[in-house]
Parts: sequence; structure tokens; C-alpha cells
Amino acid sequence: MTKEYQIVLLPGDGIGPEVTDEAVLLLEALAAAYDFTLRFTTEVAGGAAIDQDNDPLPDRVVEACLAADAVLLGAVGGPKWDHHTGAMRPESGLLKLRKSLGAFANLRPVAVPDSLATASPLREAAVRGTDLLVVRELTGGIYFGEPRGRRGVGDEEEAWNTMRYSAGEVRRVARVAFEWARKRGGRVTSVDKANVLVVSQLWRDTVTALQGAEFPDVALEHMYVDNAAMQLVLNPRQFDVIVTGNLFGDILSDAAATLGGSLGLLPSASLGGKVGLFEPVHGSAPDIAGQGKANPIAALLSVAMMLDDLGESAAAAAARSGVEAALADGLRTGDLWREGLTRASTAELGARIREHALAAAG
Ligand code: NAD
Repeated sequence: MTKEYQIVLLPGDGIGPEVTDEAVLLLEALAAAYDFTLRFTTEVAGGAAIDQDNDPLPDRVVEACLAADAVLLGAVGGPKWDHHTGAMRPESGLLKLRKSLGAFANLRPVAVPDSLATASPLREAAVRGTDLLVVRELTGGIYFGEPRGRRGVGDEEEAWNTMRYSAGEVRRVARVAFEWARKRGGRVTSVDKANVLVVSQLWRDTVTALQGAEFPDVALEHMYVDNAAMQLVLNPRQFDVIVTGNLFGDILSDAAATLGGSLGLLPSASLGGKVGLFEPVHGSAPDIAGQGKANPIAALLSVAMMLDDLGESAAAAAARSGVEAALADGLRTGDLWREGLTRASTAELGARIREHALAAAG
């Protein structure tokens, strides 16, 4: 019997709808080639949801996402909604979505294929062959810790947040990292600030104990976050899987994002709950929205992560090889275009990737 998957699409704002359109075209092509069926439901999120429902993520949308097999998000936010504060900001909708889905592990793979090594801001020799995965804890740590607050005036005015992790929260995200390391290069680097922070000492002890008990076949090293930031730039090839908390992961994964030369290349998956959330790492890029200039690759590689998660790994592999082949052809959107390469619009690059993906499907 043909497998059927319910997919909720949240195109969002800015370039979100443009790259989501390409994602849907690729998904439909692969579904036909690999004989599975997709049922799409499109919902609003972020600024689009504020405009329509006066809420960046209405409960109805959360319920639709929880009832689906996967959620594909474009991007949210933009200058039109910058005056909103607190829970009415478009990004608050995204935090609510991640929390509601129970997506505690954010996976961001960063691979630099040969065709892109020269596009990196780092020396080609330093980045060529980079293939790492950042696993960031997503629903805990200082972004959610209580107490938090602000009070007082003048020199006495103060503000505080709390970085808090339980051993259980650390264990479940570290387990995700170890499991991925088993499928990849067999190495995990756990990043913390255990020389200063008590919460990091718990993090380190917990990761060490888990490796000893359940993953003795995976190599584990610990690295302080300041050193990790430096090592990511000096020698990114040394990493296989990096696991870290919410705040450090936010910063390090953006630093890792620059290695391939454009934010427009980087996919992500937020996993751990019943339903996975798949989204490009980039934002809504208001500066290029509506002009056909957005690089669709981050969204299309997010589709590949989604297909892997649904168990359609052959279709996922075809999507990835489509991306690599289109890059090898020399097609580039403006973010990566240079003399000697072929400039392509969002739709042109998307179409070439589909063509190659279908050829890979045979
Ligand atoms: P951004 O990622 O939108 O853009 C940063 C730069 O990268 C811009 O110059 C943009 O043109 C370029 N860029 C990003 N994606 C690209 C793509 N696919 N192809 C080509 N170029 C691309 O980050 P920003 O400018 O800091 O934020 C813009 C808005 O997006 C803000 O409202 C922000 O809050 C929001 N945002 C949303 C998310 C999300 O939805 N996950 C993430 C980050 C930022």
C-alpha cells in the first residue's frame, strides 16, 4: 500500500513562501518517483498570522501541526512587525511552535561540497571537506529558565536570566547526538563552559556518564565554548557531531553557518517530539523578498531531512544529490554568484535541482 504523509506547510513571511514553493515542487516530484503520497495543509505563522489572526501562532495551527507527520516552515518576521513586542513578535510564534511540538533537539548539518569551498569566507584549504552536525538543545537553558526579570532604576537597575538544565534534559539531547554520531563519523564534541558555570559541570558529568553507559563505541571529547568558536573557524574539519546547550548552540551554529558561504544553504530539523519541524536556518530576508533571488537550497535540504525522518531515505538521498549536481553545474543564486558561474533565480535553481533529483531517482 502506498504510504501517505500529512505535511503542514507554514510558509511564513518574506522569502519564506518563495522557498517553500520550491520545497513543495521537489516533494511532489519525489513522491511520484518513489511512490508515496503527500497531503499538504497550508497554515499561517509569524507576521502572516499576526495579520490574519492577530496572533503569531494561533492554537488552531499548533493543533494542525501536532496532528501531522511533519511540519515544514519557511521563515518568519520582517520590518512590518518589528514594532511588536513580547508574545506578539513573529519569532514568539516560532518559539511556541518548537515548545508545543516538544522539539528539544535542533539538528543543523553543515557540509561544504567541493563546488562551494571557494565561496567560503575562510580559506578553501581550511573548509574543503567540512561535514559536521550541530545538535543544539532547543527547549531549555537560559532562553526559558526562570526566574528572569528586570527591576530598579538608574545604577541600581538590574536584569537577570537563569541558565538551568536538568540531567534528564541533558541526557535526552546528548543521546540524539551519540545516535547520529554512530550513523556518521563516530565522534561527539560536547561544548560547555564547565570551567565557570555550575550548570555546565552538570552538563559535562551527565554527557560523560551517558557515553560510558550507552555509547562506549562513540568517541567523546569536551570543549569549552570559547575554544569551540575558535576551532570552528580554524579547523572545522576536526568536528563530526557537536552537542551543546541552547545559548551556545545558537551562537556556534550561526558561526558554522558561514562556512559554506551563505545562510541560504543551511537546513535544520527540530526533533524529539511526535512531529518533526523542518526549516531553513535563514530568516525571512526582507532585503531580497519577492524578487526571485532567494537561494532555495536550505529549504530543499530541509526537505531531505524531513524525508529521512519519515523513513523515505532513498528520496532524501535523491534530493541531496540533486542539490550537489545543480551546484556542480555552476548554477548559483545571487548570494553565491561569482564571475564564471551561471546566475539563476529561485525557480531556475529549484527546477534544475528537481531535474537532477529525478535523474538520481532513475
Ligand atoms: P536573514 O537570515 O533573513 O538574512 C540575513 C542575510 O542573509 C540577508 O542579507 C539575506 O538577504 C541573506 N539571506 C538569508 N537567506 C537567504 C537565502 N535563502 N538566499 C539568499 N540570501 C539569503 O536574517 P536577518 O536579516 O537578521 O532577519 C530578517 C528577519 O528574519 C527578521 O525579522 C528576523 O527576526 C527573522 N528571522 C527569522 C528566522 C526564522 O524564521 N527561523 C531566523 C532568523 C531571522
